[in-house]
Formats: sequence, structure tokens, C-alpha cells
Amino acid sequence: MDKFQQVCVEILEELKKNSIKTQHELTQTKLKILSKYKSKANLKQIPKNADIYLAASDNEREKFKELLSLKPVRTISGVAPIALMSEPYPCPHTMQGIGPCTYCPGGPGSAFGNVPQSYTGKEPSTRRAIRNSYDPYLIVFNRLEHYVAMGRVPDKAEIIIQGGTFTFFPKAYQEYFVKYALKAMNDFSRLFFSKDGNLDILKFKKFFELPRVLSEEDKRIKKTQQKLLYIKNLDLNNLKVKEKAEYLFFGDDVFIGDFFKINNVQNFNALRKIEYNNANEINVSEQNTKLSIIENSIQNPNTTSIKHIQQKLNNEDNKNITLKQMQKENETSFIRCVGLTIETKSDFGKLYHGNLMLELGCTRVEIGVQSIYDDVLEATSRGNTVNDNIESISILKDLGFKINAHYMPGLPLTTKEMDLHGLKQLFENPDYRPDMLKIYPCMVMEGTKLYEDWKAGKFTPLTTKEAAGIIAGAKQHVPKWCRIMRVQRDIPTFVTASGVDRTNLRQYVEKICIEKNIKCKCIRCREAGFFIKSNKKINFNNIQTTVTEYEASQGKEIFIAAEDLANDVLFGFCRLRFPSQFLRDEITKDSALIRELHVFSPSVQIGKKDEASFQHKGIGRSLLIKAEEIARQNGKDKMVILSGIGAREYFRKIGYELEGVYMVKDLQELNATFKNAQTLTIAGWLA
Ligand code: SF4
Ligand SMILES: [Zn+2]
Repeated sequence: MDKFQQVCVEILEELKKNSIKTQHELTQTKLKILSKYKSKANLKQIPKNADIYLAASDNEREKFKELLSLKPVRTISGVAPIALMSEPYPCPHTMQGIGPCTYCPGGPGSAFGNVPQSYTGKEPSTRRAIRNSYDPYLIVFNRLEHYVAMGRVPDKAEIIIQGGTFTFFPKAYQEYFVKYALKAMNDFSRLFFSKDGNLDILKFKKFFELPRVLSEEDKRIKKTQQKLLYIKNLDLNNLKVKEKAEYLFFGDDVFIGDFFKINNVQNFNALRKIEYNNANEINVSEQNTKLSIIENSIQNPNTTSIKHIQQKLNNEDNKNITLKQMQKENETSFIRCVGLTIETKSDFGKLYHGNLMLELGCTRVEIGVQSIYDDVLEATSRGNTVNDNIESISILKDLGFKINAHYMPGLPLTTKEMDLHGLKQLFENPDYRPDMLKIYPCMVMEGTKLYEDWKAGKFTPLTTKEAAGIIAGAKQHVPKWCRIMRVQRDIPTFVTASGVDRTNLRQYVEKICIEKNIKCKCIRCREAGFFIKSNKKINFNNIQTTVTEYEASQGKEIFIAAEDLANDVLFGFCRLRFPSQFLRDEITKDSALIRELHVFSPSVQIGKKDEASFQHKGIGRSLLIKAEEIARQNGKDKMVILSGIGAREYFRKIGYELEGVYMVKDLQELNATFKNAQTLTIAGWLA
């Protein structure tokens, strides 16, 4: 046992002897043990909770699960997020000679190097992507490894694709990217879960060589990546292939360190280099975007990055493994993709792109609205208009997507009053009314056009205080059906030249809200997971169903919530929509859409129950029944749900079936479930 592992074991001994309850006490214990070794063993790193967790025996793991688990806030909504960064690639308006947006950092050949557009290479998710060569298979495995190492079973995962305008990538790349992300979830499930759905921690530890030996960490990461690249293009559905992989990775007489010696028979590179015939798919736009990608003109970082994507597809995409196949498998896999988010700009978020995203299994679209003023959009080289924003939001809602809008206070030509009005409009003007909102104050970053303007004294960004004031002001207008997701970019302040200079802007906003007695009614501020975290007791008898109707993008939205009004706590909600346009065959004029059905709680594994959780106590189902009832009362005869691929099984069990990309149900057949539901009491939810 190396010294680092020895320290972990001693910390465990200490935990057994003393009653340690808080993270602070745990840190003190770690430091105490570490101080014994420091001078002798040159141990520079304090063991993470995950290191101790993995060094523990089964009993110890069970006993100290709570104490050693980290970051509950990450999965408090019941879903484990996995941010997945795509390769550096230009945005469409850059190729049209308009962009990039004047404030946007990064991109191919940027001041921060060759990094994804809109990122600096320093954010945690970009760093992880770089470490994993932007390979979706490696990144997802890496995230799943971390979740499990922290004592969580991330069986309901949500993929969030970041890094510019994803719908501008070649269609083949979009499919490649999602396909391998899903394959990672499917393969992870096959390798480390038993048939009855229990995680095999021994296999997990053996594969990832955990607990780690600190001095060998780089080697361990490399070896893990090589193992994963070996199985990336293998079909683990094939029993023989799976047996071989299992023998290599877990066989008693095989040392993982010898893996590559044993595996010499396989030519690894040949295995990965799969013929890819469809190499000419750069132009994906329906609207004849006049892209002048003239390959033989001067090489620039943008054209190089486009070529690189084609090469990647040629070398790494196994066409024998299809996206459809991976989606089908994921429906019943142990790790399921219950949500897929894609970031795009609004002129690349129209019907053509919406249909593409539906085929990928996308359920939520993040749209950079940024401003409600056309002159501001133009002055910042946004490459799209206010009309594009409004049209895209309407189309995507009518396709069933959830909309997460981004708004950027402090842009050029925008006063504080204009921002307050702009943010208010997002909630009050039916043309916007997004389901979620990220507010990112404009910051100045090197390499951007705005940086030049700032240096020349032509632009001054908002200070932390000003930004907090605007956001707090906007909070008083947030309706109960919207969720404020973030108020700040995940960019370290040391890479920004000017602008908000604190990473805890949310706390500044909260302080102003308290001072001015502003109470945010947004979903995030009211969801039950946070209520439990503050050690408050839930009384299930207080839960009632409320229905809020509002107009949005020419359609009608009905927000059905399960909430405790007395304590102002939200347990779950359903977004029912009567669309304004019928853009696909599955959506008839008498269809109602469900764009979201969400029950809050700390994560609970699918099929398992947990006393602290209410996610599987029937709240979701009751909300759905209510939605069906409202749809019928309004003369709708078909319910169409845009469900995450991994949630399809849930809907199948309650009478829905797959039609195209949606889960649908004929509402004309009045079934027993529905009749019974009429008499459902609140207590019935818990049954
Ligand atoms: S569209 Fe988004 S990612 Fe592209 S340049 Fe503009 S801000 Fe950056
Ligand atoms: Zn809020």
C-alpha cells in the first residue's frame, strides 16, 4: 500500500473511532493524519472524499456514505448533469464574415489557443474535454467514473452539449457525438452493473485502478483512456466480444497493467480506423446559408478545424454502430440519458435544425437571445435578429422542446434601464417567455472585438455591483413557471480583462434581494431539494395541485405544479402546451404537448425507493394524469410527450408508445387509470 492510500485508511480508522459529522470536522481529521506523513512521504495533496470512499470496505462505505458524498447540489434536481464540450469549431456567422460575436472569447486559433467557441480552455468542462481529446465517449466515461467514485449512481444522466453552435456542425458529427455519448452510458452499464441493476464496485475499482496511487495518477488516466478507446468501437452487445473485454479487464489472472501486452493480437489503430464513406456534409443549413468555405484559399484556423472534424469522422466513426441502435439500448440501460441539451443561436434553431435535434434525442435547447434590441444585436455582430429569436423560440416550443434562454446584461448600446426592461420583457412578452433563463453579464475578454473597444475607452462593462443590481431587479418579475439557472458564466475571473470580478455574483444578488425584500418566485428558489437540504421537514399532506395558464409564442401554456403553498415549496411540475403550429406528422391539430414533467428530489436510482425522496412516489404520474384531464377538457385527443430517451420506458409503463421521436397516447380511450385518477386524493400520490 502506498503512503497516500495508507493515509486514507487511517482517516477511515479515525472516522470509526470518533463521531465526525461535518465536512469541517472531516477536513480537520484529514489534516491531522496527513501531518504525520508530510515530512517523510512528501504528500502534497489532501485526500479527496472520493479517495477515502474508494479505500473503504463495503461496510465502511455504507456507514460513511453521507459524510463522504460530495456536491449534493449537483444532483439535487434528481438528475446527474454531464457537460460535454464539442471540438473547437467556428460559428456560422463567422464563416459568413459577420461574426464571431464581439464579446465572445475562444474559437479556433483564438487568443486562448485552439479552444471551443465561447470558452477559454480554463473552465472545468473545457479542461476535461481537452484532457479527453474532445472524445464524447471518453468524457462521458470520465464523468460517470467521478459520480460513482463520489458514491452516486448517476442512473439518470442529462447531457449538456456546449461549445458554440452545435447545429452548425456537420450532421454526421452531431450524430457521431451523441451516438458515442450514449454508447458510453450503455457500455458503462454493461461493464459495471449486475443484471439486477446493482453496481459492482470491485469491477469498477479494478477497471479504473482505484483507489489511485497518487504518484501514478497520470499513468492511470492514460491507461484508462487507452482501455476505453479499445472498447469504444466494440459492440459489447455481442456476447463473445463482451466476454473477451470482461476477461481482459476483470479476469483474475490478468493484471490490468499487462492489458496491452496481452492485447497485442489486436491492432488497436486498425480497429479504430473504420471506413467512413459520407465525408462531404459540411453544409447542413436548410436556408442556403452562403458559406464560403473555400478549401484551397489561405489556410486559416477555421477551415483547418472544419477539415479536422472530417478527418475525425473518417478515422473514428464506426458506421456499423448506429445512433438509433444506441438510443434503443439506452432506453433500458442502467445509466439512462433522461435529457439532452443543445446550445445554438436562433438562426440555427429553426425547423430544419429542430428536426435534426429531435432525431438526436434532444429535449432542451439553449438559445442565445442576449438582447431584445435589434441595434444591440447588430452592434455586437450577433448575426441574427430579434425576429430570429422570436421565431426560433416559437418553432422549438411547438416541437416540444424546453427553452433555456440566455440574456446578456451590459452589452454595448444598452443602459441599465434598457436591461431591466429587457429582462422584464422576457417574462411579460408572450413572444419570449422561456422556461429557463441564464443571465450572463457581458465581460471583456482578450482576443475579442470588445476587448479592443474597451482598451480604446469605447466600452465599459458592468461592475459586479451594477450587474447584481440589474439581476436582483429582474428577480422581482420572475414568474413561478421559469427557472433562473445561472447568473454568471463558469469562466474563472482571472481570464477576464474587465467586468464582473467575483465568482459569487449570485450571493451579491441574494444580498440585494434581502435588503430590498425581493422574493424570487422562480422554480430554482422553490424546489423541494433545497428545502430538504436546509433540514426542513416535508409534510406530504400539504401538497396540492395548482394550474397556471399563460400565453406563450402564440400557443397556450399550462403549468401544472405540485406544491406546498403554505411553505412555498415546489415538488414537481408539468409543462402542458397547446401548440400554435403543427410542424410534424406526430403533432396533429388536436394534440397537446408535454414539454416537461419534473419531480424534484436528490437522485434516487431508477426502480429503487428511498425514504428521503419523493421522486418515485407517484407525483410525476399524478401530474401527468392532471395534464391528460386538462387536455381532454380542451378537446384534445392525443398527448404528445418529448421525453428524454432514457425516460421513454417510464412513459411506456403508463400507456404511452413511441411514435417517431415522441411518446404518444390516444386520449380518446378513457381507461381505468384515468377514471381512478378522478378520485385520487393527495395521499394517493404516496401510494
Ligand atoms: S453565437 Fe455564441 S458561440 Fe457563436 S460567436 Fe456568438 S456568442 Fe460565441
Ligand atoms: Zn429564483
